[in-house]
Amino acid sequence: MNQEPVTDLKGIGEKTGALFKKLGVETVEDLLHNYPRAYDSYEPAIPIGKAEEGTVCTICGQLLKTATVRRFDHMQIVVTVVKDLTGSIQLTWFNMPYLKATLQMGRILFFRGRVVKKGGRLTMEQPEIFTQEAYEKVASSMQPVYGQTRGLGNKAIMKAVVQALAQRKLEKEYLPQGLRRKYQLAEYNYAIEHIHFPMNQEELFAARKRLVFDEFLFFLLAVGRLKEKRQDVKSHYQMESVREVEALCQRLPYKLTSAQEKVLKEIQKDLGSGLVMNRLIQGDVGSGKTIIAFLALLEAAYHGYQGVLMAPTEVLARQHFEAIQELFETYGIQKKAELVTGSMTAKEKRLAYERISGHETDIVVGTHALIQEKVVYNQLALVITDEQHRFGVGQREALGRKGEEQRHPHVLVMSATPIPRTLAIILYGDLDISIIDEMPANRLPIKNCVVDTGYRERAYQFIEREVTAGRQAYVICPMVEESEKIEAENVLDYTKLLKRKLSEKIVVEYLHGKMKGKEKNKIMERFATGEIQVLVSTTVVEVGVNVPNATVMMIENAERFGLAQLHQLRGRVGRGSSQSYCIMVDASGEEDTRKRLDILNQSNDGFYIASEDLKLRGPGDIFGLRQSGEMEFKLADIFTDANLLKTVSEEVKELIKKDPGLEREENQGLRQRLEAYLGKSYEKLNL
Ligand code: ADP
Ligand code: MG
Repeated sequence: MNQEPVTDLKGIGEKTGALFKKLGVETVEDLLHNYPRAYDSYEPAIPIGKAEEGTVCTICGQLLKTATVRRFDHMQIVVTVVKDLTGSIQLTWFNMPYLKATLQMGRILFFRGRVVKKGGRLTMEQPEIFTQEAYEKVASSMQPVYGQTRGLGNKAIMKAVVQALAQRKLEKEYLPQGLRRKYQLAEYNYAIEHIHFPMNQEELFAARKRLVFDEFLFFLLAVGRLKEKRQDVKSHYQMESVREVEALCQRLPYKLTSAQEKVLKEIQKDLGSGLVMNRLIQGDVGSGKTIIAFLALLEAAYHGYQGVLMAPTEVLARQHFEAIQELFETYGIQKKAELVTGSMTAKEKRLAYERISGHETDIVVGTHALIQEKVVYNQLALVITDEQHRFGVGQREALGRKGEEQRHPHVLVMSATPIPRTLAIILYGDLDISIIDEMPANRLPIKNCVVDTGYRERAYQFIEREVTAGRQAYVICPMVEESEKIEAENVLDYTKLLKRKLSEKIVVEYLHGKMKGKEKNKIMERFATGEIQVLVSTTVVEVGVNVPNATVMMIENAERFGLAQLHQLRGRVGRGSSQSYCIMVDASGEEDTRKRLDILNQSNDGFYIASEDLKLRGPGDIFGLRQSGEMEFKLADIFTDANLLKTVSEEVKELIKKDPGLEREENQGLRQRLEAYLGKSYEKLNL
């Protein structure tokens, strides 16, 4: 493996190294696995006379004069003019005086860049310069486009990747010959090179198929190991279900749905079985998973054991904690809950840890960081994670290890990701699956509409009416603040706008991921109590947040979100008995987008949405919006690559049956690679 730091590459110093780190790239190996997000094809040059203002294009022509350098305040501007048979155009570059040597009168060159109008004259700004030979080369290939960060642009990343590819140590092929032949998989080193620089679609597909195969393979091998480890493990915490939980169910303000009851029974049966429970609860947004988690935690508490509930965000953790507190108060339950989050001070944390290890606490609620922290539990019998869909294998394994030596806690994971059962069985092969496939009866289906930006004013009036009637609204924007590169609504400016548009009495505030934990909590709390009526937010409210009084969800730039994500966002409303509404603003004006969003319009069912989205995208559409980025796959998409996933799953079963320890000669390479994969997965968790 190429483990040397990227700063070993030429031209990458400390500063650029730090920027790469922001992208998750520290070693040359990381760089090789930092795959492009998309590919640009350079089209043939067009006649200069056809170059239009506002477009990016390539032209080819002869320089009418040697470039001159003009000084302008602190800037140096290089200017020249190029012509062909159809016309001429001015070219300018900022602060690149050295270009003068290249731009000599009479030379014939290719230029690619954006055409603007300057002083009434068409000008190409900052074009890239190519010789004919160089342009022919890029025009016949696909240029990678990488995820970027301020100060580290595509060109610099590309250059680093080229270097890394040139000087990497080649990997010995680790897939057994038979497998590669059977599925016509490209060789590993070839795949790595061509995922970055494919000459055409075919090469790209070949490279991608191999790498997706690998992603699935190691993930499923790891799941296989977990499963083996977890099967039939005796539990130290056998619990018959208690009367108190039964009684509480009877006293809740609503009756559990029969799906909730069924799942609760399955859990109780597991807890009483004498074996360690490993169970996944799948249930669409709003199906009522939280109360099931609480009841399971209470089972443990009444047996004198501890339980942990983990959430992906602090906002959600806090909300769960408060809901538990309220439950305790309302029903006079004499148990203690404790909240542990990243934004607590060291002292607060220490005191909380003391209460936990001293078993003053029965139920611990916190963010997922909990599994990384050095909390010492006292008789930890049950670990629950909410919204587990962002988890890799490493996390799943870590959950079961949290308890005291040799005493594995029961594990329950809850997910709203609408994965079809056939795929869930594969991806969660280490877990038993329960499904809540029924919504509480008191719900009115959410009313949806997809509109263009011209509808905004009416949407604001509608929000104002709902708020006046005592309800609340969310407005989602994709960005936090204005960006030069991306044209999309941002939370900060939108909040200002709404404050102007809505009546003064209405309290509008914003929420986004870059805010400090404490600020976020404050805002969320004020929204939950109704003090804030309109919350402008990024997708941080996507997971789990429960404010039943909110009835309007307005999503700006809906075209920028995947359907599954939109479904999650929409799930923030329709949680109470009032009619709720979801307004999706499509700013793209494109037919295809409208069609895609229309799927949400037709249904409120997560499974239906996921399957329809799949049909629309088709298995070849690899650059569609990824729905399943939650799993730890970089390239693979469990929906579009579902067939390959099933194939790999069969192969893994076969492999494990024939050679469980991967000890055979032909599987040696595979085993080493799996160890590295697991190591990395744990390393991310600091285990
Ligand atoms: P999710 O499955 O998305 O986590 P929640 O557990 O947050 O959903 O439940 C959504 C809302 O539905 C909550 O306000 C909860 O109190 C309520 N709820 C849960 N179960 C029922 C039920 N059986 N009948 C009516 N309301 C319910
Ligand atoms: Mg939830």
